[in-house]
Amino acid sequence: MKTQIVVVGGGAGGLELVRRLGAKLGRDDFDVILLERNTTHIWKPLLHEVAAGSLDANLDEVGYRSHGHRWCYRFFYGSLEGIDREARQVVVAPVLDEDGTELIGRHSIRYDYLVIAIGAISNDFGTKGAREFCLFLDDREQADRFRLKLLNHCLRVSRTLTENPGSDAKVEIAIVGGGATGVELAAELYNAASGLRHYGLEVFDESRLKVTLIEAGPRILPALPEKLAQAAHEELEALGVRVLTGTAIVEVTADAMRTKAGETIPADLKVWAAGVRAPDLLHDIGGLETTRGNQLIVKPTLQTTRDDRIFAIGDCCFFLPEGAKHPVPPRAQAAHQMASTVYRNILALFARRELETFVYRDKGSLVSLSRYSTVGSLMGNLIGGRMAIEGRLARMVYLSLYRLHLISIHGWLKGMALIVIGHVNRVVRPRLKLH
Ligand SMILES: Cc1cc2nc3c(=O)[nH]c(=O)nc-3n(C[C@H](O)[C@H](O)[C@H](O)COP(=O)(O)OP(=O)(O)OC[C@H]3O[C@@H](n4cnc5c(N)ncnc54)[C@H](O)[C@@H]3O)c2cc1C
Repeated sequence: MKTQIVVVGGGAGGLELVRRLGAKLGRDDFDVILLERNTTHIWKPLLHEVAAGSLDANLDEVGYRSHGHRWCYRFFYGSLEGIDREARQVVVAPVLDEDGTELIGRHSIRYDYLVIAIGAISNDFGTKGAREFCLFLDDREQADRFRLKLLNHCLRVSRTLTENPGSDAKVEIAIVGGGATGVELAAELYNAASGLRHYGLEVFDESRLKVTLIEAGPRILPALPEKLAQAAHEELEALGVRVLTGTAIVEVTADAMRTKAGETIPADLKVWAAGVRAPDLLHDIGGLETTRGNQLIVKPTLQTTRDDRIFAIGDCCFFLPEGAKHPVPPRAQAAHQMASTVYRNILALFARRELETFVYRDKGSLVSLSRYSTVGSLMGNLIGGRMAIEGRLARMVYLSLYRLHLISIHGWLKGMALIVIGHVNRVVRPRLKLH
């Protein structure tokens, strides 16, 4: 029997890991398997651009089957449901077709080593009506749904304006969460709205958007230095965004959000982008140790605390480095670094070498305000600690993050080719995805 390594979740961390394991171990003695509930991958930090329509996910997505063929891993389509640690098997939920008809029944996959990399979902903190009426930018499907709803509302307002040019019809959007996701989405919406007039909505422009960004904390972008967060705040207000800080949402209804102070904020589209937690299915899964937010608690080697054969990486794991006050944050750069450590640790297990300890190196944070601005801070020994950056340089570094992801999942040659194709597409394709 081949040694079977099962990685669950082909996102920022998992996809890179299966590529590297498959390329290194090959198919002769090893079986590297990716279990994933979608058939294609899109890098999660791009989802706000997919939602606004400024990025066509069809051009940037990666099909797991062909990627697996190229990099010597097998792709299994399905959703993790449980772990049987005694039998060393993961339980895969029944696979249903669009009408709910069962295509493949519940089944199991054997593992010798297992890596859980299923990411996180938005945390609505149990707020009344949030699950029912809000959109969450957790995956491509939801980003696509948001884009279609946005276009429909823009069409409605455009039609109203054609019939009644004096009307003050607007598309009202409320976004909860002043972190990077909320801020980036707010700015991207203005970029998209400014382009719609070229595509048949002649009377529509960004002045017809009314975006409210709502943050419970005292300021937006708490991960960035105050000066940069203030610059982003001012940039958003200059675009027309109403930024509310120190404002908690207590209820969401079909057409509004209600704040703790009693204000009602009308909204055609409601987005929840405040905080993340690991999926509920991880709670106590296979008897493994989890936090209240369902994250799997891992040791410095990234092995779960109760089972050395099971690793966890990325947003779904909880790792508090020794002496640190905060756990490693849920970021793409953390998922990438963890994938590298687990790759080396799995190889170390085969070679009976000591496993390495995971050290998180914070390279800084960057927040893109679409084409209007980019702000952030870089960290590193080379620049002597933390350096605040803004504008063109920040934009270049921001864009390079996705390019590095492309190289890490496709290798140098294809990665570089895709970067060039991306540039060409920007010239030859429409600026917005409208279908
Ligand atoms: C709009 C947005 C912008 C962001 N911007 C940034 C940024 O600028 N910089 C940054 O560092 N981070 C950013 N992040 C956070 C970053 O995307 C995540 O930290 C990162 O993707 C985590 O990687 P991961 O591998 O843990 O999980 P993910 O990339 O989320 O991948 C998880 C994978 O697991 C699959 N999966 C889930 N459940 C199951 C199941 N039950 N069975 C099988 N498969 C399953 C999912 O389909 C997915 O493919 C952003 C996030 C969002 C939403």
